[in-house]
Amino acid sequence: MLVSGTIDQTRLTLSLKASALTLMYGTHDVLTYDLGGRLWLRFNSGVTYRRGLDGRVMERIQDRHGRQRRWLNPDEAAGLVNDSVARVRDIRMRMYSGELDLDGAEHPTLVSAVERAARFDARAAAADHERFNQIYRPVGILPPDQYLALVLQATTGCSFNTCTFCDFYKTQPFHVKTPEEFSAHVDAIAAFLGDSLTLRKSIFLGEANALAVAQPRLLPLIQIARKKFPDRPIAAFLDAFSGTKKSVAEYRELAENGLQRVSIGMESGHDPLLRFVRKPGKVANVVETVQALKAAGIAVSLIVMLGLGGDRYAQGHVQDTVAALNAMPLDRDLYLLQRPGGAPAHAVSRHRPRRRHRRTERRRAGCAARGYRRCVALW
Ligand code: SF4
Repeated sequence: MLVSGTIDQTRLTLSLKASALTLMYGTHDVLTYDLGGRLWLRFNSGVTYRRGLDGRVMERIQDRHGRQRRWLNPDEAAGLVNDSVARVRDIRMRMYSGELDLDGAEHPTLVSAVERAARFDARAAAADHERFNQIYRPVGILPPDQYLALVLQATTGCSFNTCTFCDFYKTQPFHVKTPEEFSAHVDAIAAFLGDSLTLRKSIFLGEANALAVAQPRLLPLIQIARKKFPDRPIAAFLDAFSGTKKSVAEYRELAENGLQRVSIGMESGHDPLLRFVRKPGKVANVVETVQALKAAGIAVSLIVMLGLGGDRYAQGHVQDTVAALNAMPLDRDLYLLQRPGGAPAHAVSRHRPRRRHRRTERRRAGCAARGYRRCVALW
């Protein structure tokens, strides 16, 4: 549903879709709320803000220096929520007073979506955040294609926790939920999200390497997720070392229960570098795991960290990673990614890559990926 009119000589458009309400005030101020009434996106005078369910807001600015990102501090995030709700309330007030002549604006579904958005001020956002914290452990990292997924934490923490560049789960012991625990978690999420669920098109089975769990314990957990949300494809992380522990038949069984995509943190195709950063497993494990997943009909995303290991490892990192990618039965659905921000300085500070090496890696990785239908390269 799309309705538009004029407000203070500025074009106002309200768009209600199956998953979100968007209010466009001219072209310079755009607000998007999910159907549960939570602020999700704001575009204001060239700056984009993206709000997560955990209440954190990422600010993104595209200028002549490229794309700049930063997290807003809590006061700034609350200010953004209040500034946005003030805009929504102003529009709502004018709709009711008849000041706005919008054909179709009286439609009850649209009115209800605007009403919900008009309730989401900083106080409501803080209460929402508190509820989120009761249901979720902090969500460490998601693959870029799963930022809008419905995260279900079947496990928490990482079963290895050894990699020098990763501190997402250092303070969290690894824990596999029992079916009862997981079922209660899933029910709590469904109740918490309510109509906000419409925005979440897939399930991400958290956390770091949930698929490392042995099949007899994993299958009931996947089945619980599938039963609750039967229409959503399931994605998950998997470390390649654990990946070799499952057979093609077991992966097929997971695929039959909704698993569609697996993201593997390969990081590098160079074994000495994997040892240096204390990543479990070897490149051969990645190749073997990808083969098994593809044979089971599961799509694969590979994550490669450009610049990892700096000058000392640059040549081996480039050559062996390209060779490993080419040795895998990848089809035209490859995602080639780098973790945003690259490796934290503490992991590579003695070996900062020179610009020349970074460029070489980009070029060669791009060559390796050429011909794939969807190749997303972030660096
Ligand atoms: S296996 Fe993954 S989640 Fe675990 S420490 Fe290494 S990079 Fe981090």
